[in-house]
Amino acid sequence: MYLTIDLHSHSSASDGSLSPTELVTLAHRLGVRTLALTDHDELNGLAEAAGAARLVGMELVSGVEISVSWERQTIHIVGLGIDPESEALQQGLVRLRQFRHWRAEEMGRRLDKQQIGGIYERAARLAQGRIISRTHFAMALVERGYAKQVGEVFRHFLRAGKPGHVAGEWAELSEAVGWIRAAGGVAVVAHPARYSLSRAKLCRLFEAFIDAGGEAIEVVSGSQSAEDAARLAPLALKYRLYASAGSDFHSEDRPWHLLGRLPPLPNTLQPVWQLLELDSASAG
Ligand code: AMP
Ligand code: MN
Ligand code: MN
Ligand code: MN
Repeated sequence: MYLTIDLHSHSSASDGSLSPTELVTLAHRLGVRTLALTDHDELNGLAEAAGAARLVGMELVSGVEISVSWERQTIHIVGLGIDPESEALQQGLVRLRQFRHWRAEEMGRRLDKQQIGGIYERAARLAQGRIISRTHFAMALVERGYAKQVGEVFRHFLRAGKPGHVAGEWAELSEAVGWIRAAGGVAVVAHPARYSLSRAKLCRLFEAFIDAGGEAIEVVSGSQSAEDAARLAPLALKYRLYASAGSDFHSEDRPWHLLGRLPPLPNTLQPVWQLLELDSASAG
């Protein structure tokens, strides 16, 4: 059986390809009963998603995925059940979007210097005035024939040490968790297995996260394997962290598209949805 709850997804308010309404409609069609929309550093898809969810009779959890710099690495912290009207959260995200904008221009300048011209302009056009992410650069580079697929672009152009890479200056870990808590939400470390951290460093991350007031980690994620989940489960138990599950859906053509197809959490763990005030007990 698949989970009927999915606590991590993206719309075109950040780097997803579907509008909030299209995302909610697709998720509903695929059997999701409770969905969190967690766009990168952006809340403005939430109102539309909530309206669409009401229409189809699905429960929408207001969420966000905040970009954090921690020990010179980029870490993503998901906030669930946040109040989108929270001043502290909104102001924090404004700063991150300003950095995103500058970073995108800087990425464009660095690619220009490598004779890869016009990519910023195309990426900005693809982002349509909403937040601009490396995903938009990847799409632009594929379109121009610099790579066959998006994954290849990240390897050759957008990772640390590559021509289009600009180091992140995102939120501090404690700031991001603080904004989420100020907005009444629960903070979750997104896809912990994706950062390629040693076990010792992952433990340090969890300790710093708990000190800041964080409560959960994603154990099941569309961007993690079953082995990753098995490796994270004992850490969730050790640190008494709640466990979350989310597809991290962006578009139907990404290889890891698990919308409506998430496996259950290991049954030794406390699901994070126990902390959320859900209408439906859709723990399925
Ligand atoms: P940004 O927040 O602008 O740095 O962009 C990060 C986004 O790029 C992530 O949220 C993913 O959606 C996407 N991404 C990162 N690495 C890859 C990859 N190897 N293949 C495809 N998409 C990726
Ligand atoms: Mn993304
Ligand atoms: Mn992420
Ligand atoms: Mn995500």
